[in-house]
Amino acid sequence: MASNAFQHLMKSSRKLAENNPPSKKRIKIAAVATSNERTPQKHFWKSGLTQAMNDSENIVESSDSLVIIKDKYPKAKFHYLVIPKDIQLNSARELTKLHLNLLKEMQQKSELLIKDLLSKAEFKIGFHAKPSMDHLHLHVISTDFVSSCLKTKKHWNSFNTKHFLSLSDLIKKLEEKDNLDDLYPSDIDIELYLKKALNCNQCQFEAKTMPSLKTHLETHASSL
Ligand code: AMP
Ligand code: ZN
Repeated sequence: MASNAFQHLMKSSRKLAENNPPSKKRIKIAAVATSNERTPQKHFWKSGLTQAMNDSENIVESSDSLVIIKDKYPKAKFHYLVIPKDIQLNSARELTKLHLNLLKEMQQKSELLIKDLLSKAEFKIGFHAKPSMDHLHLHVISTDFVSSCLKTKKHWNSFNTKHFLSLSDLIKKLEEKDNLDDLYPSDIDIELYLKKALNCNQCQFEAKTMPSLKTHLETHASSL
């Protein structure tokens, strides 16, 4: 579909610039502001996306069925979340054939979003097998992985091992089967993926530490 047709489909205005994490100062102010409130429920932060998707400040695009927001702690130069509005699922594990149309719509919107960025960056589109946040969300992320928010081995491996489930693979599977039971990794496998060695996604380099991986990733980004 031509991008102007897509813009017609989507209602709200665009904020497509590269991602910037919130400043430390703002985070600190927010922490102070909430410190006197009632003791929060355990894991209250897990519902952060449900709040973020309803805050017009965050919305990059919106249609009847989907919201696209920038990831607040981007793990690459471009990092967006595509979030279905009317869905009670928290993880891709629960997706079935009945969700195929929704997934195809998410795929189409993600591809158009990438096209509209007019960037030479390459992108991955998919779900974390074991997400940390509630409310089903699809990651659309550039493969440079150059970001101050990319800090831990878990961050890296969550996007660069089989912990990251590509949307096109899930769609293909659900076209053949009713559910994702025989594609989905077990909890034990997920633990292993997140502990894997730090292998570069663009060459054979294996980093010993996250700082050395990050320095190495910069060299790929600067040669673009
Ligand atoms: P996942 O591991 O798939 O649950 O990823 C959750 C994503 O949500 C992470 O990439 C976070 O950086 C991002 N995130 C957390 N809180 C917010 C928020 N309030 N607004 C936007 N993105 C967020
Ligand atoms: Zn490399």
